[in-house]
Amino acid sequence: MKKEMDLFVNAKHEKKFKNHYPLIHKDAVRNYSVLKQEGSIINLIDQNGQFIAKGYYGIQNKGIGWVLSHNKGEKIDFLFFKSRMETAIDRRNAFYKSEETNAFRIFNGEGDGIGGLTIDYFDGYYLINWYSEGVYSFKDQVIRALDELTDYKAIYEKKRFDTKGKYINDDDFVKGDRGEFPIIVKENGMNYAVYLNEGAMVGIFLDQRDVRSVIREKYALDKNVLNTFSYTGAFSIAAALGGANKTTSVDLAKRSKSKTIEQFSANGIDFELHDIVVMDVFDYFKYANRKKLTYDLVILDPPSFARSKKRTFSAAKDYPGLLKDAISVTEKNGVIVASTNNATFGMKKFKGFVEQAFNESGDKYKILEAYQLPVDFRTVQEYPEGNYLKVLFVEKIS
Ligand code: SAH
Repeated sequence: MKKEMDLFVNAKHEKKFKNHYPLIHKDAVRNYSVLKQEGSIINLIDQNGQFIAKGYYGIQNKGIGWVLSHNKGEKIDFLFFKSRMETAIDRRNAFYKSEETNAFRIFNGEGDGIGGLTIDYFDGYYLINWYSEGVYSFKDQVIRALDELTDYKAIYEKKRFDTKGKYINDDDFVKGDRGEFPIIVKENGMNYAVYLNEGAMVGIFLDQRDVRSVIREKYALDKNVLNTFSYTGAFSIAAALGGANKTTSVDLAKRSKSKTIEQFSANGIDFELHDIVVMDVFDYFKYANRKKLTYDLVILDPPSFARSKKRTFSAAKDYPGLLKDAISVTEKNGVIVASTNNATFGMKKFKGFVEQAFNESGDKYKILEAYQLPVDFRTVQEYPEGNYLKVLFVEKIS
């Protein structure tokens, strides 16, 4: 049995936990220092000594733990994990049945009732992301629940917390029959090469599924497309399959070139008809301006924070500048797809960045559509920060 500890909630934080806010911040509780071992069960106690909720202790950059239940009598045991996972899997029934898509998220952290844990499905393979040592302490229960609830080829895992060199696991394999990577998964009929055994980034970001789909269906035909921060070129593939004249993918990482070629090839597209450029995006904009290169569709999907040899980029500070660069290479009536996964600001502020950039560059614009997380990335109202993805389709009018 896990040890249970009482944590006394500071008065001004009481209400939010009573309203089912799931994340436990260090400064929300009085006696944080009693916590010793990650994975301990925490009871949140109010000013009157009454139980509010229970959760676990696990350190992430966001907080020190997550609420798991508001039911005092509920045990955080195997049956707890199994029932939360069963509900989550039932919610994804339509995805499991789909013939067009076999890569999706089956468990999305606090959105499915257990913060710090996500599980993705890639054509028969399950990939678990553990975001703290604390949630990792429930590994046996989670794996057993997957065993009982699903049929799989194999389970892989990513430990996205500091393991201080303790758990060395080269290829992230947990159990089943090891895969031969890449596996080719399907998303709305498009093919993507995926590696579950090469670090945290597996080749595709599943949260952009709806955005790839609409780019392919509505924005690509006959267009000249610039895809910046392109990684494996997933957006370029969608655009090419949607009938783009040409795509140009730009990423700083050397590996992006071979990875992008691989994605084109997985879809039977001749990669030589497309440009794949290994370059700092900010240098590419300068180059494009010098050469007077312009595009009908410009995709911006930077990381929240990036440091290269020359500069650091922070989405929260530098996004307007990035948009201005994009505006400078976008044709009249062209479209900019501005995306960010930064959870520290919301859609309103992001729209403000677009407003600011167009004002400063003296151009007019119109927001055509907005996207947030797809349905398999389930979020809860009580924790809006969980809906981190913000994507705006913006037309440059003049
Ligand atoms: N848009 C991609 C995911 C981007 S991941 C997709 O849809 O799959 C972020 C990528 O940005 C990484 O591949 C990283 O190498 C790249 N990157 C970070 N800073 C960069 C910079 N200054 N110039 C170009 N690429 C950069």
